[in-house]
Amino acid sequence: MKEIDVMAIGELLIDFSPAGPSLNKRPTFEQNPGGAPANVVAALGKWGRATSMIARVGEDFFGEDLISTLKEHHVDCSLITKDKKIPTTLAFVNLDDNGNRSFRFYRKPGADLMLHKDNIEETGIKRCKIFHFGSVSLTGEPSREATWHAVELAKENAKIISFDPNVRELLWEDHDEMKEQIIRGLSVADLVKVSEEELHFLTGEDMLEKAMTLLSETYSIPLLIITLGAEGSSYRLYGKMGFIPGYKVRALDTTGAGDVFWGSVLYQLLGRAKLLELQETDIVQILQTANAVGALTTLKKGAIPSIPTIDEIDLFLRQHRTHMEDKT
Ligand code: ADP
Repeated sequence: MKEIDVMAIGELLIDFSPAGPSLNKRPTFEQNPGGAPANVVAALGKWGRATSMIARVGEDFFGEDLISTLKEHHVDCSLITKDKKIPTTLAFVNLDDNGNRSFRFYRKPGADLMLHKDNIEETGIKRCKIFHFGSVSLTGEPSREATWHAVELAKENAKIISFDPNVRELLWEDHDEMKEQIIRGLSVADLVKVSEEELHFLTGEDMLEKAMTLLSETYSIPLLIITLGAEGSSYRLYGKMGFIPGYKVRALDTTGAGDVFWGSVLYQLLGRAKLLELQETDIVQILQTANAVGALTTLKKGAIPSIPTIDEIDLFLRQHRTHMEDKT
C-alpha cells in the first residue's frame, strides 16, 4: 500500500479575494481555492510529496473546483466527501493597504463543518508519516468529533502530529470553548505553528520569548514555530530559542503565506532520516528556506495559486545568498 507523507484534515473552502473595482465601480472578488490544511497539502503535493486530504465540500461547482485544484496539485482526494444538502463553505477576504487580511465566513453551516466521524478510516491514517490539523474543523459538530477521532487514530498509530491552531475568533460563539479545543490540540502535537498574535492570545503574555517558553513548556511541545509576518519567524526546539529574519518583498496578498511556510517546514523535515531528531543548525536552515517560501507566497493573490515552484524557491534563495555575500 502506498505511503503518504502528510495527511491533513479540515476545512476546504473558497476564498473570495478582492479583485478591484468592476467597470461599474463595484467591488469584485476572485474565486480562489483555500482552507488552511488544504493549502498545506497543496504546497507539499506541488513539491512532489505524497499527500492526502480528509474534508467535506458541497455537491456544487465550488466543491468541484476545490477537488480538481487539489488533484492538479497531486493531492489524494479519495477521502473528500460531498454533501448533497449543505453548500461548500465560502470565505470573503478583506485586504488592507499592506496586504494583511481579515475574513468573513459564509458557513451557517457550510459543508466543511458536516465532516462526519464515519468519513474517517484508519487505513489511510496508518499510511501517513505526519498528520496535520487546525482548529477551524473543531468549531462545531459533527466535524469536531470527526477531527478528534482522526487525531486520536493518528496518535494511536504513533504518527507525528502537526497542529496550526489558525485562530478564527469569528467562527466561535464561546471563547472559553475555543481555548479549550486549541489547548487540547497543543497538548497532543509534536510540531506546532502559531502566529505572534495567536501566541500572545493563548498565553496572555506580551514578551515573545516568555510566551514561547510558557506555551512550549505548558504543553510539552518539542518544536514550536512562531510566524512573525514580514519580520520572519522564531523557533523553540527542546528548550533552545532563536529568531530567523524574513526577506523584504512587495507583499500583495498574505493569504496562505503561513500555510505554505508550514508546508515548507514539513517538506524539509520529511527530507530527513529521523524527522524529529533536529539540531539547532537544522532548524535555522529550515526556517531560512521557509521564510523565503512564505515571502514568495505573498507576491500573488490567493493561497494555492501563489505556491511557488521548487525552482522559484531555489532561485530566490540563490539571489538572496549572493546579495548577502555582496554586502559582507
Ligand atoms: P500566519 O498565517 O501564520 O499569520 P504570516 O503572515 O506570518 O503567517 O506568514 C508566514 C511567513 O511568511 C512569515 O513567517 C514570513 O516568513 C513570510 N511572510 C509573511 N508575510 C511576509 C511579508 N510581508 N514579507 C516577507 N515575508 C513574509
